[in-house]
Amino acid sequence: MQHLYLHVPFCVRRCSYCDFSIAVRKRIPTNEYVNAVLTEMRSADPGPAARGGPISTIYFGGGTPSLLPPDAIGRLLRELLPRTTHDGRRTIEVTLEANPEDVTPDHAKAWRASGINRVSLGGQSFDDTVLKWMHRSHDAARIGAAMHALRGAGIENISLDLIFALPDELHRDWERDLDMALALRPTHLSLYGLTVEPRTPLDRWISRGATHPPDDERYAEEYLTAHARLSVVGYQFYEVSNASLPGFRSQHNSAYWSGQPYLGLGPAAHSFDGTTRRWNLRAWEAYRRAIAEGRSAVESVETLWEEQRELEAVYLGLRTVEGIALTALRRPSPPPHLAAQGWLVEHNGRLRCTPEGWLRLDSLVNELDMHTETQQ
Ligand code: SF4
Repeated sequence: MQHLYLHVPFCVRRCSYCDFSIAVRKRIPTNEYVNAVLTEMRSADPGPAARGGPISTIYFGGGTPSLLPPDAIGRLLRELLPRTTHDGRRTIEVTLEANPEDVTPDHAKAWRASGINRVSLGGQSFDDTVLKWMHRSHDAARIGAAMHALRGAGIENISLDLIFALPDELHRDWERDLDMALALRPTHLSLYGLTVEPRTPLDRWISRGATHPPDDERYAEEYLTAHARLSVVGYQFYEVSNASLPGFRSQHNSAYWSGQPYLGLGPAAHSFDGTTRRWNLRAWEAYRRAIAEGRSAVESVETLWEEQRELEAVYLGLRTVEGIALTALRRPSPPPHLAAQGWLVEHNGRLRCTPEGWLRLDSLVNELDMHTETQQ
């Protein structure tokens, strides 16, 4: 079993915080994109993840996949669905990332008809001033309208993205945004803290003193507020940044966190077979040219050593609410002060993070790793 990711790199403009591999385009080169991805998929070197067997989830990520015309998404899915475990009785999860302004009733119906059954909506905030500051192309009212259109078309499984820990001067009311999101009752929420990535508009604003970097205290406070708010209305944080209603976890993303094989197509897409990871050329033009000239679009390949794989499994496992088996640690005795601080919980032979632990996940994993080394 493996999982298929398609990177659709196009956006109409760059959001102020975004450093993803995107191509800003007024006109989307639809045919070139679809042909390139299908050529890559049919190529003689489908990559290590191809050994993982039939596809069991498909995820269109970006960029802004909802900028692709619906018939292009339909064409891709007509090629891809026969390669999946979908057999007419069992439906596989097929997710499309969408920006609210692209979700019209007609688009939603066409997406549903082509096989999309889950939409991840980039809402980010319900405050129009904040949305403008982020360079988003939609206003707050579009988020509810988009959810309504999706449900009208029969797409009930809707995830909503929100960004927290914004600079003070925006006076963003996080609790109000959470309430507005919860009033729409999405099946899933992804909550990301604002980070300052190099060479983004946000990075430049901060360098010239036009805005302040996000503050750690606000980050922790808003993250913990979200945990408290969401859990009383039936959502479970099943991963450090993701919460869902029962039965609505993202199967595709869960596969990443449990180390399953995946195949990525498109510029900057990554593939993994459990030991070897490879990734494609980042820039759309470089990717397009490589495919058009019959060359491989792979930029680099990395094979993980056993120790790297073990550490990665610990890191990915601790991102999830299931945590890791204590036996996954080379020395199954985490430093006692981590539990005493309330950051880790041991139960039934497993170790998992509390919400306070998730706030410092990277340093916890480092500490567990160093503790292992000092005990050897
Ligand atoms: S729409 Fe998404 S991928 Fe595109 S610039 Fe904005 S955050 Fe980045």
